[in-house]
Amino acid sequence: MRQLTTMPCRLCLNDDALQNSHIIPEFLYRPGYDEKGRLLELSGDVGRKKLIQKGYRERLLCAGCETHIGRFEKYFADLWYQTDPLPNPVTTNGILRSFDYQPFKLFLLSILWRAGISEREEFSTVRLGPYENELREMLLHEDPGPDTQFQIYGLVLLAPQTASPCHGTIMPPARLRLPAGQTGYEFIFAGVSWNFISSKQTTDAIRLGALSESGTMSFPVRSLEDDRNFTQFMKDYFATRRRNR
Ligand SMILES: [Zn+2]
Repeated sequence: MRQLTTMPCRLCLNDDALQNSHIIPEFLYRPGYDEKGRLLELSGDVGRKKLIQKGYRERLLCAGCETHIGRFEKYFADLWYQTDPLPNPVTTNGILRSFDYQPFKLFLLSILWRAGISEREEFSTVRLGPYENELREMLLHEDPGPDTQFQIYGLVLLAPQTASPCHGTIMPPARLRLPAGQTGYEFIFAGVSWNFISSKQTTDAIRLGALSESGTMSFPVRSLEDDRNFTQFMKDYFATRRRNR
């Protein structure tokens, strides 16, 4: 009889048969503006390539924990792509929204945590150190913590030369050095630049507009081309492609 290999699940730590888990959930790979052939006038030949290819999986979670995290994913997927909280076109400089704090934050933290434990090169910038276990416990116990713990800021990013959120653009996370010395990570997905502060030290200034315990969050609106990490990433990406040609 074939022996089933078991390994400790990264979330509950129990030995079990592990599933092939997504780091970035599949539903975030939307048919985006890029698939209409308008991707990145910035450089021309990205064509239809996604910045992080769809379908990357790693053996990380047991079936029970897949279901557990799947509940946060379902909340976000329904919110973002059924209720559609981002207007299109976007005609204002800022968007104020209100969410259900617990599942909203836990979904976002689950992406940060998954990127942190991933062994894929695309996520190698995310080094959570002691915060990795802290996040694991929060996710396991469905505890989103106070809004000063892993503060989250968002900027709505518009596809170049349009007023449409850049759904479908998914960028490998970038490490942030914040003015007050904190460390953070920027992810781009779901039309938003999500900025996670992975330090305890937060200030009122940077709290302004962050996801609050009452669920409010304020999103300034920018063009994708004005996102520094994104433009740097694209420059590196094309330099590498040219070298490998
Ligand atoms: Zn598990």
